[in-house]
Amino acid sequence: MSTAIPDPAVLAAIAARRAQVAAALLRVLPARAVLSEPEDTRPYECDGLAAYRQLPMIVVLPDSEAQIVAVLQVCRELKVPIVPRGAGTGLSGGAMPIADGVVLSTARLNRIVRMDAYSRTAVVQPGVRNLAISEAAAPHGLYYAPDPSSQIACTIGGNVAENSGGVHCLKYGLTVHNVLRVRMVTIDGDVVELGSEALDAPGLDLLSVFIGSEGMLGIVTEVTVKLVPKPATARVIMASFNEVTAGCHAVAALIAAGIIPAGLEMMDQTSSRMVEPFVKAGYDTEAAAILLCEADGTIEEVEEEIARMSAVLNTAGASAIAVSQSEAERLKFWSGRKNAFPAAGRISPDYYCMDGTIPRKRLGQVLEGIARMETKYGLRCANVFHAGDGNLHPLILFNANIPDEFERAEAFGAEILALCVEVGGTITGEHGVGIEKINSMCAQFAPAELDAFFSVKRAFDPVGLLNPDKAIPTLNRCAEFGKMRVSGGMLPFSHLPRF
Ligand SMILES: Cc1cc2nc3c(=O)[nH]c(=O)nc-3n(C[C@H](O)[C@H](O)[C@H](O)COP(=O)(O)OP(=O)(O)OC[C@H]3O[C@@H](n4cnc5c(N)ncnc54)[C@H](O)[C@@H]3O)c2cc1C
Repeated sequence: MSTAIPDPAVLAAIAARRAQVAAALLRVLPARAVLSEPEDTRPYECDGLAAYRQLPMIVVLPDSEAQIVAVLQVCRELKVPIVPRGAGTGLSGGAMPIADGVVLSTARLNRIVRMDAYSRTAVVQPGVRNLAISEAAAPHGLYYAPDPSSQIACTIGGNVAENSGGVHCLKYGLTVHNVLRVRMVTIDGDVVELGSEALDAPGLDLLSVFIGSEGMLGIVTEVTVKLVPKPATARVIMASFNEVTAGCHAVAALIAAGIIPAGLEMMDQTSSRMVEPFVKAGYDTEAAAILLCEADGTIEEVEEEIARMSAVLNTAGASAIAVSQSEAERLKFWSGRKNAFPAAGRISPDYYCMDGTIPRKRLGQVLEGIARMETKYGLRCANVFHAGDGNLHPLILFNANIPDEFERAEAFGAEILALCVEVGGTITGEHGVGIEKINSMCAQFAPAELDAFFSVKRAFDPVGLLNPDKAIPTLNRCAEFGKMRVSGGMLPFSHLPRF
């Protein structure tokens, strides 16, 4: 391995810049809120996409909106890029630092500002954990419906930035359907409110533009979420299938029958065998695939829906059906699904979690395609996903210590996303684009569409300092990725601005 000796002049310039930016930030923040030593900034070098790492120049931990405004003003004046960060559980590298940038952590903005059972809303700061909202709402018989599997750790700010989903989003909607209002700070330091606490807001629907914008348009400082009543009861069916494609057809058949389950998840055999010894959820590990189908509502509604779903599943060829007989058993069935990602660590040193969405009727075709790619790339893949939403989460298993396995895993992932686009789907479901899928954006969108996205970015952030180089590829990047014609070694769009 060759180790280049750093140029002392370059090192001195980097140190001087760090000192300049730190000094400016220390004028607006207390000393404990500014981290600039590598031993302090190291924990922020990656998010859940740990294969990519970068030490930031500085990390700031403001504890108020006023401090966020001040940080943005400093960064704008000194032209420093800013990467917002919640809990760092993102799986697409959205919170990955930039070497000459500041990571702005919202960890200290973790207060539930108001819980209003009467209007069934909660006003929370961005660093509040997803699950903490439901825990605080529970005494009122309410909860916050979008439930990413990372909900014990991930923050509402990150959920807004990624438009996160979860097991219950098929019936109750994604983050965008459960957030009424977002308060945020622009790169100019202006505090702006999008949406309202009423069901509608005047003017263009900028709230929907903002949700899912991956930290590129502004820093979320407060969120008003909808709360929904906790259902009187819930039960879950575990249905086994001898063939994966039969399980996929059952998913489409349930929806076609007019049933919207409270959760509709699929795990293939690799996944159930991976998780069962770890969680002991009671899964049928002989089945090629299992479906978890939840019904919630009153006792009568649940009984009726369980009967209807069982009938559809049987007709679709289920080889066995088990229905949870108690709340403890229902939670046990779900515990395997919710712990599937960590369980991957039992059978593989590393895994790469992909995220793409396809029309439900194409599930079988795409899973067959993934099985063929396992042979092509010589890597195993576990499929555990939000089947009702058509949202795939292939976990590609690899060992980063084996030369070229990571590169093969990346190529495998890119081919899965290309297949998603080919069958009429999208390259992302709920994990965002970040840095992970930025090249696949070139496969999904035409240059004019990418330019339109940059126009939106420029309207919010004309100086391009908020989470730059994430989520939207430049046309030059697409050219380099090989999706556009490069003539005579010249990139056709080299005159284009960086964003
Ligand atoms: C085991 C596991 C399971 C998961 N399951 C799911 C799942 O079921 N569904 C799902 O949707 N996701 C899932 N995820 C992905 C991840 O948890 C979500 O994307 C989550 O919303 C990220 O929240 P976070 O607080 O960790 O944000 P981070 O990872 O810190 O940041 C994510 C993005 O949000 C931006 N951001 C963060 N805070 C702010 C802010 N205040 N203002 C502006 N931008 C901000 C960041 O810049 C970054 O682009 C899972 C992750 C793991 C590790």
